[in-house]
Amino acid sequence: MRRALVAANWKMNASVAAIDAFVRAWQQPSSDVDVVFCPPLGYLDRLGSAFAGDVHLGVQDVGVEAKGAFTGEHSAEMAADLGAAYCIVGHSERRAMHGEDDAVVAGKFRAALRAGLMPVLCVGETLAERRAGDAKETVLRQLDAVLNDSGAAPFADAAVAYEPVWAIGTGVTASPEQAAEMHATIRQRLAAEDADVATAVRIVYGGSVKAANALALFAQVDIDGGLVGGASLDPHEFAAICAAAGAGQ
Ligand code: PEP
Repeated sequence: MRRALVAANWKMNASVAAIDAFVRAWQQPSSDVDVVFCPPLGYLDRLGSAFAGDVHLGVQDVGVEAKGAFTGEHSAEMAADLGAAYCIVGHSERRAMHGEDDAVVAGKFRAALRAGLMPVLCVGETLAERRAGDAKETVLRQLDAVLNDSGAAPFADAAVAYEPVWAIGTGVTASPEQAAEMHATIRQRLAAEDADVATAVRIVYGGSVKAANALALFAQVDIDGGLVGGASLDPHEFAAICAAAGAGQ
């Protein structure tokens, strides 16, 4: 049985005051769900101390290398040193705004593993790719780049986030059927490499998840939780989404 996973991607949204207010309002929903907060890196410590160990911490990105002359970067090792256990890699905003191609994403997945972080690998097609009938091909290409680089075994301790680009931050959610179909495709691809890994890997959905649509998505057999952007900034909304993940198991 896979444990549900719900990760909050706070993107570039945080302040000391906002974190303190969030934690004051937060009510941990269920012990059956791994709840992960990915604030901007500099706020990890504040968030971790405020939650006092009830949640997991993650980062939104890492560099490929462990250390060196890479101005503005932080490594997976540094994230682990600061208390992170999870790491988002290949988010579509990184792919689109920072030119991260499949090879770079594969390197970041490898870096997260090297540092003992659990990677949350984001894959997803654009609207143009879906309209052209290329959604599965795109997602499998993104997945294969990492599979070819790291092999299948590490996916037993990783998560994949299916995030259709057209659903991120738009208020338009993939239907439960659309999401379920892609999740099944991802799991089948992993099963072709290693059946045990495919059973173990958590595949979460991201793209305009809200309390109102979470249960319908998380009730799908291959959807093991969510990666949540905007709605994770509201403690009540996000707690309700986490509760839905527990109920949807
Ligand atoms: C995301 O950025 O990973 C995301 C899913 O954002 P939102 O929930 O706001 O669509």
